[in-house]
Amino acid sequence: MTNEVVSQVPRTTPIKRIALLCSGGDSPGMNCAVRAVVRTAVGNNLEVFGIQKGYAGLLEGNFREMDASSVGNILQHGGTVLQTSRCPDFLEQEIRKEAFNILKRKKIDALIVIGGNGSFNGAYALHKEHNLPIVGIPGTIDNDISGTDYTVGFDTAVQTAVEAVDKIRDTAHSHERTFIVEVMGRRSTAIALHVGVSTGAENIIFPTKDVDFQELANDIHRGVKRGKHSSIIIVAEGDKPGLSYKIQKHLMTDHQIIAHVCILGHIQRGGNPTSLDRFIASKMGFMAVKSLLQNEYPVVTAFLNGLVEVVPFENCLGKKTEYEKPYQDLVRALSI
Ligand code: ADP
Repeated sequence: MTNEVVSQVPRTTPIKRIALLCSGGDSPGMNCAVRAVVRTAVGNNLEVFGIQKGYAGLLEGNFREMDASSVGNILQHGGTVLQTSRCPDFLEQEIRKEAFNILKRKKIDALIVIGGNGSFNGAYALHKEHNLPIVGIPGTIDNDISGTDYTVGFDTAVQTAVEAVDKIRDTAHSHERTFIVEVMGRRSTAIALHVGVSTGAENIIFPTKDVDFQELANDIHRGVKRGKHSSIIIVAEGDKPGLSYKIQKHLMTDHQIIAHVCILGHIQRGGNPTSLDRFIASKMGFMAVKSLLQNEYPVVTAFLNGLVEVVPFENCLGKKTEYEKPYQDLVRALSI
């Protein structure tokens, strides 16, 4: 444990029944975390309930008891067997009270939430308002949760995008073309950075900075002059997909550069998790239950300096910013 974690009001009775849900965007590896939570709980004589479809399912009372075999043969699959959802109602305190009462009626002692930043804020609100023991497992392809170096699903999403860009590069090289490839990541720049560096992209466009079209055009022209046969520009989608078309238009109208657009979109969210995602998610699921057994909450299972540790929940409520900043020199140096 990196920081001292103590439950706010120590429980007088041990935790016996726990519930588990996935919330927000799905990410490859969520199933590994679900499996690890269920098996660790069952192995420690806890009753464990899966809540289908995130906070929306919680409000509908959509619970099912899980045992060791209910999570068999799932760890290699993307998505989540518990399904997930976005539930705008959960932003309201009254609705969260309803959710807490449902948990109370079902005699649930603690809740484990697998999800991203929004899901964590929802879980933390439940804890603050009702002193519900909670543990968060970071699960999002965006790798944008503060307080953890890693979120489950990121490696798989990057790998999927890298494989796609490698394929696009074959065509770009054969036809001497410029391609703009847009990758996912909402406001996060992590996927674009890792995909760009790993595919030898000529440029990476981050949503944190205005696009300098002149500089982009200069880079492409310089590449052509030094004998490059293709250019790949990786674009982080930012708030909403489609920035690539704007860049394409500028390059054509102002610089007479023809560029082809490929938006990878949801292909990056699914697929079999890589071994890294399986391993980290499994450890996080195991640690989540262990924390509850030791009365350590509210905590998040964070990946820090190569290890999974539990850290105070508050450390993980924000979003990482300027992820790409320490790598700008690297990107510049390798893309000449
Ligand atoms: P992610 O967890 O992947 O970041 P979202 O931001 O869409 O995904 O959040 C998932 C869900 O978490 C939301 O639909 C909502 O139910 C809940 N949530 C998000 N932010 C809050 C908040 N500030 N307070 C309470 N619940 C929230």
